[in-house]
Amino acid sequence: MELTDFIDFSFIDVVDILLVAFLLFYLYKLLKGTVAINIFIGIVIIYLIWRLTDILNMDVLSNILGKFISVGFFALIVVFQQEIRKFLLLLGSTNFATRKNVLRYFSFLNQGKNAMILNFDVLVNACEEMSKNKTGALMVIQRSNSLEFTFNENNQTDIQLDPLVLQSIFFKNSPLHDGAVVIKNNRIIATRVVLPLSEKTKLPAKYGLRHRAGLGITEKTDALVLVVSEQTGKIVYIKDGEFYPMDSFAALKETLSQDLSE
Ligand code: ATP
Ligand code: MG
Repeated sequence: MELTDFIDFSFIDVVDILLVAFLLFYLYKLLKGTVAINIFIGIVIIYLIWRLTDILNMDVLSNILGKFISVGFFALIVVFQQEIRKFLLLLGSTNFATRKNVLRYFSFLNQGKNAMILNFDVLVNACEEMSKNKTGALMVIQRSNSLEFTFNENNQTDIQLDPLVLQSIFFKNSPLHDGAVVIKNNRIIATRVVLPLSEKTKLPAKYGLRHRAGLGITEKTDALVLVVSEQTGKIVYIKDGEFYPMDSFAALKETLSQDLSE
């Protein structure tokens, strides 16, 4: 092989590699921690064995596996039906093309201008009170991905963000306390929102449905989530499918201010 064969690397190749990397990243993000990842690994193993038997000229085995793999494509669609649906939903709701999102990537050009308007003191204050009273709460902060697919006109609202309002919403006997609130730019834009649950299999036992719902939305979007536990009063911050238990309100404030000015 000539050296020039290596250098002959066109722009399209770069795009090709980037797209494959992008696809694999989303696939990983989607399957991370679910049972589907084991099925996926199983398929990769069968494919590798098939390639090996092919190279070693083990005709019979290679034939059998080859047949399996050629119908495998349809089997894949059946097995991963749910995941494929979610994948398309994820792609569709990511809003790559929105101006805001494009601007975020170039935020170094106009620093500060794109920072979200959110008075996180209000949130920290509300968390502090609800934690003290052991009021269970689930708050989702919308960033660049739209969260509109989680609610409809029945639970849409437009309320100024305020610690007392948040406490009233999550107060145990309030008609609005069930489900999550969605917050966008200092406004509560939806209440009683049912979030998609995470399908992770190995969650700590102390985390129930409220935490699982908070985790689910951060796996699918770039939203930030705050959970106040009704059982323990503890606060957990959730971002990109990871739990961050908060030990102090100062730490919560620091984390929020960092993530919101990204
Ligand atoms: P806590 O520590 O507060 O008990 P938890 O993680 O153990 O939280 P649960 O005790 O199961 O969770 O909390 C149930 C509450 O979580 C429900 O009353 C409801 O308000 C909320 N919840 C459950 N599922 C969802 C969902 N899919 N989307 C939004 N909120 C949900
Ligand atoms: Mg519970």
